[in-house]
Amino acid sequence: MELTYPIKRRKSRAVKIGDVIIGGGFPVAIQSMTTTDTADVEATVTQINQLFNAGADIVRLAVLNHEKSTALTEIRSRISKPLVADIHFQYKLALKAIEAGFDKIRINPGNIGADWKVREVTKAAKERGIPIRIGVNSGSLPKDILEKFGHDSPEGFVEAALREIAILEEMDFHDIVISVKSTSTVTAFWAYHMLAEKCDYPLHLGITESGTLETGSIKSSVGIGTMLMTGIGDTIRVSLTADPVHEVRVAKQILTSCALKNDGVEVIACPTCGRCQIDMIPMAELVESKTRHIHTPLKVAVMGCAVNGPGEAAAADVGIAGGDGRGMLIKKGEIVRRMDESELVETLLSEIESMTGEKIER
Ligand code: SF4
Repeated sequence: MELTYPIKRRKSRAVKIGDVIIGGGFPVAIQSMTTTDTADVEATVTQINQLFNAGADIVRLAVLNHEKSTALTEIRSRISKPLVADIHFQYKLALKAIEAGFDKIRINPGNIGADWKVREVTKAAKERGIPIRIGVNSGSLPKDILEKFGHDSPEGFVEAALREIAILEEMDFHDIVISVKSTSTVTAFWAYHMLAEKCDYPLHLGITESGTLETGSIKSSVGIGTMLMTGIGDTIRVSLTADPVHEVRVAKQILTSCALKNDGVEVIACPTCGRCQIDMIPMAELVESKTRHIHTPLKVAVMGCAVNGPGEAAAADVGIAGGDGRGMLIKKGEIVRRMDESELVETLLSEIESMTGEKIER
């Protein structure tokens, strides 16, 4: 692995998932998964819409069994954005999802069974012109690979993925996306990098079973972030033991932090220190929660004091800094107005509205 500055993104093949293209130099797409019972159309459609509204580009549904697959056609008919069916064990469910018009199928080589089943799914995907993700996971590596490499070897992940790629390529099928998700960020980092050198298929990055909201966000940010910063990755999914809307928020923040996404509001907030004389933490949280829906790129600063605040907020388009019961509005590092502490947040939100032209609910 060669490190370069600025970061050179790996050249990957472009693969189309509905109206979203991943790979081929296109923006890194955000994915998440529903947690509803797919037999419950209303609940599933509602959650899919919540995820797209939060900023997901692609939403995946786990289809558990034939009973749960009956509503796929209706769900598909109510959602125009890219939907992926996640299939384990039963290849016939993949065929059903393809027939229902899903935009991509994810299969797991460790549990889909005999090669001929993979070929059946590939044949159907080829006929419909949709891609397949080969999703290798640490919890379900094929038995012989586990025996040869053990549970947590990057080489084992890569061999499992290459084996499945070979079956698809034999059928002249190349609309392939690959993931090699480990629960270990270190194993995932090396598995993805090894794979990146062996093929040009787009990579779906993730750290599997990363944990609860706080620890899982940190683990995913380290794992996915280091891979993105070393030039690989075409789509990401943050796996959290939490409402999946959080997965989308964290994924957006990872992309913003890696300078791979510049739309929306980025809140720069100081950590506070002994100089802070306002109740700043709730102010920063409020500004962040009220501006999540905004699409216009804007850097917003919330700083605790007048000593360092204006200087530290100079990189922001607009911001506030506190004082002793008072505070100031700052634009591009210049103080433009002073006011009472109680007016700070409202003044900043109004300013953001007028700079972006996007409404903020109060
Ligand atoms: S901006 Fe002021 S309050 Fe915030 S960390 Fe810097 S010095 Fe402390």
